[in-house]
Amino acid sequence: MEDLLDGLKRLKLRYTRDCVDEYCRIAAARDMSFYDFLKMIVTEEVAVREETQRTKRLRNAKIPAHKTLAEFDFSFQPSIPKREILELQTLRFVENHDNVILLGPPGLGKTHIATALAYEAAIQGKDVLFTTAQELVDNLYAALADGTVKNKLRALAKLDLVVIDELGYLPMDDTAGNHLFQVVSAAYERQSLIVTSNRPFQEWGALFPNPSLASATLDRLLHHAFVFTFSGDSYRMKGGTASL
Ligand code: ADP
Ligand code: MG
Repeated sequence: MEDLLDGLKRLKLRYTRDCVDEYCRIAAARDMSFYDFLKMIVTEEVAVREETQRTKRLRNAKIPAHKTLAEFDFSFQPSIPKREILELQTLRFVENHDNVILLGPPGLGKTHIATALAYEAAIQGKDVLFTTAQELVDNLYAALADGTVKNKLRALAKLDLVVIDELGYLPMDDTAGNHLFQVVSAAYERQSLIVTSNRPFQEWGALFPNPSLASATLDRLLHHAFVFTFSGDSYRMKGGTASL
């Protein structure tokens, strides 16, 4: 028995190891064939591992709330083509390393859609990170102090999908603008970005420390991108009751 437990430990079959007694009881009670017995063990181990990985992927993704496209009321937001948004849920845009840009005033569902797509990607096995633009540049600033900017950028570039929410609330200085440019250019044709912003593209120049950095960033971001511009009334004001 010790040999078996030790072997399972070395093979990192932790779940199987914990269940040895249980499996033996089940096999005896059900008078299982050797084939079915082995299959039961492997199936359970695979299921438990996949669940663990899914949980880990979701935790790492730092998705702020669980939103789904099924909960999104497209009739309230006719400026957005439902079919094209549902198409994004197939995650082909992630496979193709395309970007998604969601523009428009607050309260119209940009973060909701970004969150829903990020969640879908994470549960479908993609490595995802949800961050706000502010958080992203703050983290990279902080990394300057201990010389880990390169590592941080490398870690970001390994992901399949990065959501950068709320670009444009604050203008960026040289360092922040450069960091954002580096994130966008590392992603170019290699990973997908979802960017939300309350500013139209014409105003992005003013967010960056200089126009050439703004246009270099925009060029890369928009080269392979699906752009959706939201308009209309805030969903938070629906029915005349504000609920923030
Ligand atoms: P934005 O990011 O555009 O400011 P949010 O996505 O944060 O807006 O939306 C504000 C709130 O309203 C969220 O709780 C979101 O789930 C909800 N919401 C917005 N639009 C819709 C919609 N069309 N259908 C369902 N819920 C919506
Ligand atoms: Mg938002």
